[in-house]
Amino acid sequence: MEGLSLTVPSGGATKSPEFFGCFGGSKRAAAVERSLKLPSFDYACPATVAEAVALLASHEGEAKPLAGGQSLVPMLAFRLASPALIVDLRKLDELRHIQIADEGVTLGAMVRWKDILEHPRLRQAHPLLVTAVEHVAHYQIRNRGTVGGSIAHADPAAELPGIAVTCEAKIVALGKAGPRIIDASDFFRGPLMTALRADEIILEIRFPAWPKQRRFGFREFTRRQGDFALAAAAVFFDASEERFRGVRVGAVGVADYPLRLATVERLLEDDKVSGAAIAQAEAAASAAVEPADDIHASGAYRKTLIGVMVERALRDAVNRADG
Ligand SMILES: Cc1cc2nc3c(=O)[nH]c(=O)nc-3n(C[C@H](O)[C@H](O)[C@H](O)COP(=O)(O)OP(=O)(O)OC[C@H]3O[C@@H](n4cnc5c(N)ncnc54)[C@H](O)[C@@H]3O)c2cc1C
Repeated sequence: MEGLSLTVPSGGATKSPEFFGCFGGSKRAAAVERSLKLPSFDYACPATVAEAVALLASHEGEAKPLAGGQSLVPMLAFRLASPALIVDLRKLDELRHIQIADEGVTLGAMVRWKDILEHPRLRQAHPLLVTAVEHVAHYQIRNRGTVGGSIAHADPAAELPGIAVTCEAKIVALGKAGPRIIDASDFFRGPLMTALRADEIILEIRFPAWPKQRRFGFREFTRRQGDFALAAAAVFFDASEERFRGVRVGAVGVADYPLRLATVERLLEDDKVSGAAIAQAEAAASAAVEPADDIHASGAYRKTLIGVMVERALRDAVNRADG
């Protein structure tokens, strides 16, 4: 039916007067409006990144970018967000690049999970990244959900922010003041909170080069396949003379934002690769976090779980190299 569309031209209202008229009067119209899921917003679909930034800047915090919509649309439906303007990024093909170079891997903000999983060379170039993305959501969501949306949304249990922090990735954003490069470790500030300014959009994320001999593991625990992680661990190290070198241990789902477990990294660094070292790392990982209780699991459960995830990820890393 005409007028029911939720995507409306820039500057327009969500529903036309004719639409209300067909329901026979303003009281009924108001009732219909309340029963529709999304709040009213203006809509724009810019053709360039510069245009998108200008739109965000001109609305002073009252505008939000739309990428795959897999988180923003539910947020709108639950009234957790009610921007005056939605800036749809779908025409910005300049944000869909996947670059593999000597310096590392760069993913444009509009790259989808599906693009990462289906790329012919990405798994070889960054096996930890692709292994982690295999755990993201379900088929339908992977067809639409994007790298930029995941990073900007900053769910504490999301895989990509965790991999970004563990791998010391850099996030490139553009706002009215120009481009900015932000370390992933400074980017995530709390649940659904980031260092991004209201007028900025994420352009890309850059991962440092991944040495071929690097050993890695990624483990996560979910209630059902495709759910957000109750806890997840990403680990890697460059073994030399069977000792842990350059150890990184990341944790997801056990704090307000993704963490690196520095105490575990220090414990393992230069130690002999052994079952005893891994057992110590498990205990240290549990000791390093104080997760809160929530509707999905108790804090105590997640505290134990992250130790188990770190232990399994380390064993995977060791076995992967031996194999
Ligand atoms: C049922 C379900 C299960 C899921 N499970 C998982 C899971 O297991 N793991 C996981 O990681 N994710 C999961 N997700 C989230 C999903 O994978 C997407 O990562 C997520 O929805 C964000 O991507 P999007 O492109 O849909 O962003 P959108 O929903 O369009 O936007 C999300 C937020 O990011 C902002 N934004 C988007 N793009 C940009 C940009 N370029 N610059 C600045 N801000 C931007 C938007 O304004 C909004 O605030 C799940 C989602 C659903 C619905």
